[in-house]
Amino acid sequence: MTEPNLSTSSHDRHPVTTTDSGIPAASDEYSLTVGPSGPTVLHDHYVVQKMQHFNRERVPERVVHAKGTGAHGFFEVTEDVTEFTKASFLAHIGKRTPVFARFSTVAGEQGFPDTVRDPRGFALKLYTDEGNYDLVGNNTPIFFVRDATKFQDFIHSQKRLPDTGLRSNDMQWDFWTLSPESAHQVAILMSDRGTPRSLRTMNGYGSHTFSWINAGGERFWVKYHFKTVQGVENFTDAEAKAMTAEDPDFHRRDLWESIAGGETPEWRLEMQVMPFEEAADYRFNPFDLTKVWPHADYPPITVGRLVLDRNPANFFAEVEQAGFSPANLVPGVGLSPDKMLMGRIFSYHDTHLHRIGANYEQLPINAPKVEVNSYNKDGQMTYRHAGSQPVYAPNSHGGPQADPLRAADLGWTVASGELGRYAYEKHAEDDDFGQAGSLYRDVMDDTAREHLVTNIVAHAGDRVADEVQLRVIAYWASVDPQLGARVAVGLGKANASSSADPSSAQAAELVAARANRA
Ligand code: NDP
Repeated sequence: MTEPNLSTSSHDRHPVTTTDSGIPAASDEYSLTVGPSGPTVLHDHYVVQKMQHFNRERVPERVVHAKGTGAHGFFEVTEDVTEFTKASFLAHIGKRTPVFARFSTVAGEQGFPDTVRDPRGFALKLYTDEGNYDLVGNNTPIFFVRDATKFQDFIHSQKRLPDTGLRSNDMQWDFWTLSPESAHQVAILMSDRGTPRSLRTMNGYGSHTFSWINAGGERFWVKYHFKTVQGVENFTDAEAKAMTAEDPDFHRRDLWESIAGGETPEWRLEMQVMPFEEAADYRFNPFDLTKVWPHADYPPITVGRLVLDRNPANFFAEVEQAGFSPANLVPGVGLSPDKMLMGRIFSYHDTHLHRIGANYEQLPINAPKVEVNSYNKDGQMTYRHAGSQPVYAPNSHGGPQADPLRAADLGWTVASGELGRYAYEKHAEDDDFGQAGSLYRDVMDDTAREHLVTNIVAHAGDRVADEVQLRVIAYWASVDPQLGARVAVGLGKANASSSADPSSAQAAELVAARANRA
């Protein structure tokens, strides 16, 4: 044997390498061979198993939100909201619930740069005393589409072309301009909020409308806003692009280093609360994910604070294997008739079953901190089991029994109707371009407007076909005529926003025909 003679003192300092079955390994350096130049033998099971495990190290990456990072912390209630919800994690001021947060980009793969223009995922798992509550939001209060059937198409348009394997701005603008409900979200994406300076300096939003129910059975529609206490800070387009070259892992590193250095990034949870009955006649359809509820209509109330104070001990075990699902609601919190939310209720759990496995909820990062008494059983990698507990319900052997009074609230009343494929019920001011227009005119200052224009022009000017560019101009002109004109100038098509030439008029007609107008 040519294994170096390790001194006792070296072994005193290090644990002994073992196989995964815990048996001491013979060497970290040398395979078993017949003489120094002889063949490697197959019965060196340690080396063989090392290769086999290495070949299986990756689980499929998330189809969306693949590149991310995360941290542990807690949520603390700072205001009494028991008049709105009976949720146990919100039961009294001062109550703390452990949290795991995962932040991510949307379109890029695992190794993609952190600072690209993209929405950011903002997913929280609250380990409440009534089971896990997952709030799987983004850093924007709205989304690109409002019906789950368009989600896969939208994501495909953000990913890569089937032939070249390249991302394509042409494909993105083609989809967006043919889906004008995207205008509000694209306006935010193209603003400097599309390139956050750090994960600590962006807000998080539940985005969907959810319901809360109080102990008396009264229901409310609600929206979650996590406002960064660090203040919103963004990169300019140029700064973000420079950072993709300088440090593709900049956001991951920044979050890790700030927490390791003793900082505790914090967000203030503010809620918008709408009385249940007001939804029917509200000026916007309150369940349409492409719209916000203006603050003046439903002023946000402070509820609590989210604090992140501990880095993961292991990236794969915690960040990669974390599985969030909007279906994980707790008593006192329910869904709403948001069609995107209903699609996500199925899709998230399903993707984790595929990605991590049938028992992904048994992994420590996903396991609730309360007793689990489920009738689901067995499957690959079963770890938690119920011993000899009955495997069916109902049973006469003392097995668990559901409790409708304690269960999460999933329902609301719906008017009966014909089964069919419908657009959302239209409310008085529903318009695909209106809220994007108020963002541009009323919220942004001159610098933000200038950056919006230059960001759009840079993006839509990069390998986007002429006919799509004409639609881009029509799309932004529908948001605001001045914005359309500025984009047209930037794209070198100054006459296009006037619809003077036939192809511009045709592009404008196409965008208008596909849009929802008030
Ligand atoms: P307000 O003037 O009350 O609120 C405007 C909000 O816009 C701010 O509070 C801030 O949200 C957000 N904001 C500021 N700059 C930007 C930007 N560059 N990109 C995206 N959001 C920005 O107005 P309204 O509530 O009447 O809403 C007007 C418009 O503001 C909406 O059409 C929407 O585009 C945008 N907005 C509204 C939000 C809402 O929930 N009402 C939330 C976010 C944006 P924040 O405080 O969350 O940072």
